[in-house]
Amino acid sequence: MKRRDVIKFLSAAPLAGGMIGTGLTAQTVSAGETEAAIAGRDLFKELGLKTFINASCVCTSLTASLMPPEVTQAIVKGADEFVLLNDVLDKVGEKIAELCHAEAATVTAGCWSALVQGLAGVMTGMDRKKVMQLPNVDGMKSEVILQKTHANGYHQALTNTGAKLVIVETLEEAEAAINEKTAMLWFLNRELSAGKLNYEQWLSLGKKHKVPTMIDIASDAHPVENLWKFNDMGFDLVAISGGKAMRGPQSAGILMGKKDLIAAARLSAPPNSGICRGHKVNKEEILAMYVALERHIKMDHEKEWKTWEDAMGVIVNTVNNIKGISQQVFIPEIANHTPTLHLSWDNNKIKMTGRQLKERLWNGNPGIEVMGGGTMGTKRDGIELSVWQLKPGQEKIVARRLKEELLKASV
Ligand SMILES: *Cc1c(COP(=O)(O)O)cnc(C)c1O
Repeated sequence: MKRRDVIKFLSAAPLAGGMIGTGLTAQTVSAGETEAAIAGRDLFKELGLKTFINASCVCTSLTASLMPPEVTQAIVKGADEFVLLNDVLDKVGEKIAELCHAEAATVTAGCWSALVQGLAGVMTGMDRKKVMQLPNVDGMKSEVILQKTHANGYHQALTNTGAKLVIVETLEEAEAAINEKTAMLWFLNRELSAGKLNYEQWLSLGKKHKVPTMIDIASDAHPVENLWKFNDMGFDLVAISGGKAMRGPQSAGILMGKKDLIAAARLSAPPNSGICRGHKVNKEEILAMYVALERHIKMDHEKEWKTWEDAMGVIVNTVNNIKGISQQVFIPEIANHTPTLHLSWDNNKIKMTGRQLKERLWNGNPGIEVMGGGTMGTKRDGIELSVWQLKPGQEKIVARRLKEELLKASV
């Protein structure tokens, strides 16, 4: 641009000023205006989105959990400044590692992403050529060993790296499966009791053959000790969801463990290219993940447990006198470790299937989502429900609606 052109542009600026000026004014005012505009809008209504009471689970399809105010505030504040993506990952990673007794940690795009990133790190190490080569595994250790009962869907994440899964049942089979191509031994916590091998056996297998071990504890943030238990135990990598029991952003998660493995895993994720380039977590959610974890660790879990018990008490007591029903409150040992009600009934006294009750609750006003009687891997009639994702007071609505539907179907 010649100097004259610059001057010409400058002199033209006031003319364009009408436009530019308006833009600036709009932007300056926008902070307040946007807030007002959002406050006046009901996006759920506007878009025709059904909202509901979640008496079910922290399942992905139900949008898992609701973020507490601290967490949403972290998102809002995080959106207000630029930072370097690596910087926020470094700093938050350090804090998470400290809180969870790990050498290092990073925020991932959920637990699934943590599984992919973690394995990618194991396979590539700090070799950037290998990072760019995946999912072509030539020249890399590329077999992951897991137990048959642990292969229930989430293990597919591991194949994103190009790795091959080797499924075993017994200790002998696992020993025999280990060879020079073995990259990792993977464990799914929720299937602990279904598998033949326990933590100690899995860990000593890894130690003996110098193969890294990884455990998936996606929705196992209760009891809270789980957040450091597996690091203390010696798993080289631990993967957990941020948006399930911990109530962080649904699209965030944590990968923690050995320093060299976390550093290697990060090479495949943003801001780097590599197979996890599409697993971007924005700075807002990285910060919110940290706040959610901190909150979860600091909170009074006994008090929270008591509120769950009280809420469950309201429901159980409201329907208890209805003829023909039976109620059993159980606590899944691992995964969704929270009071859960199994409600069933005598079909001669109440003419309704579990599936029908589930549908009627969903279609009522307000809609309520519960689990079918057989959801937690059980083959049972009736329904199951939990109270940990209810907002205060919603237990009364759930209790009232249950009673209404059970009485309506009573003969
Ligand atoms: C939900 C879940 C995942 C995936 O976690 P996201 O945070 O949704 O990516 C992985 N493993 C298990 C056992 C899960 O329950």
